[in-house]
Amino acid sequence: MRINSLIELDRDHLIHPVTSWTGHEHRGVTVIESGQGVYLKDREGRTLLDAFSGLWCVNVGYGRQSVVEAAAAQMAKLPYATGYFHFGSEPAIRLAARLAELAPGDLNHVYFTLGGSDAVDSALRFIRYHANVTGRPEKKHVIALDRGYHGSSSTGAGVTGLPAFHQNFDVPVATQHHIAAPYPYRDATPDDPAAIIARSVAALKDKVAEIGAERVAAFFCEPIQGSAGVIVPPRGWLKAMRETCRELDILFVADEVITGFGRTGPLFGCEHEDVTPDLMTMAKGLTAGYSPMGAVLLSEGVYRAMADGAPKGSAIGHGFTYSGHPVSAAVGLEVLRLYTEEGVLANGQAVAPAFEQGLAALADHPLVGDVRSRGLLAGVELVVSKAGKTKPPADLRLPDRLAAKGYENGLIFRAFADGVAGFAPPLSCTPEEIELIVARFKKTLDDVLDIKEIRDAVD
Ligand code: PLP
Repeated sequence: MRINSLIELDRDHLIHPVTSWTGHEHRGVTVIESGQGVYLKDREGRTLLDAFSGLWCVNVGYGRQSVVEAAAAQMAKLPYATGYFHFGSEPAIRLAARLAELAPGDLNHVYFTLGGSDAVDSALRFIRYHANVTGRPEKKHVIALDRGYHGSSSTGAGVTGLPAFHQNFDVPVATQHHIAAPYPYRDATPDDPAAIIARSVAALKDKVAEIGAERVAAFFCEPIQGSAGVIVPPRGWLKAMRETCRELDILFVADEVITGFGRTGPLFGCEHEDVTPDLMTMAKGLTAGYSPMGAVLLSEGVYRAMADGAPKGSAIGHGFTYSGHPVSAAVGLEVLRLYTEEGVLANGQAVAPAFEQGLAALADHPLVGDVRSRGLLAGVELVVSKAGKTKPPADLRLPDRLAAKGYENGLIFRAFADGVAGFAPPLSCTPEEIELIVARFKKTLDDVLDIKEIRDAVD
């Protein structure tokens, strides 16, 4: 099929996630044809270094034959098994056990979903159920961070703190609240991490006091806010928020959909600060994007309270046809083996310092206001005035231009709408590939600065 007819078919029939529908009709699709290692090939034969792992998910790189074989073997043996009616399949059981073993503390109970949004949605349903069966039916309010992303299910989108997910969708609802995110670069005291942490703790306490502690069920956060533009809180922030939740008797939910599976160094972001949440959501790196799967993990306490508090003999009415899908579970088991036994996690840790230093060296570039990273997760915030930390005006179309120049230079990264470039390269990157990412991004910044309108706008 010719590329043009594919573009027409796409325009006429395929709705793309989180995009301006008319904008997409106008622009047309970029068709990706194949992938190998850290490289993608588009339909026109261009080779691109994917420094965003698809959508922060292909952590093991493309074309991993052992994953393909695990999926094919499971598909041939048993392509589907329901988890309903007390049935189960070996891969789902083994993957649940392996996650319980690898996850922090007593997160021993796993409910499988198809991705991150339904993991968050399941967590929200479990939290409500938990409140009801523990005799606190008024404890239903949920607090999260401004600019946090917790998916786009009908309920989860209200926990998300990004305006695009609220506009015209009638969320957040009255039980969903947000507090300011810790954002060192734009904080009043960027060089005082203790003050940033103290302000977050105070904001959470104040919000809980405003709602009434007996009415607040949970606090949700990402260990590092990905879709917000990779906002990295000061070290100690996560632990302080976890401890505050314990003090306030509210559940602490860590959304590790991006930060899980080695993205920031250890297997889970919570491990940096020795934090065990009450619930943890995950997806993406769980199957490295080779097939859809997410999960929500429940602590021993939450699980037991729900199991024992449920009316005797009645079903806990939450379930998906594809929960614990055997093919995705087989993929997840093989991907976990790659992380832990084939050195992928260790490789990510080994190349991360060069990646962090390479990007940090771009801080002198006239367009760069802030570089922040942890492990192989990074954000470069662009400004038109370093002194004023001034965001690029919308009419400069900097994000679009940045993505387009990057593409011309053979590099894919995320150009967020507010001028942050996001990076999440595969953990399997070689040192040379890391160097190439940094070099191609530097050239992209230079090329963007060469555009007269942009050069004129920069201080
Ligand atoms: N939670 C976080 C932290 C995410 O980053 C995402 C997706 O990017 C989600 C939830 C939603 O996951 P999905 O897109 O798989 O539904």
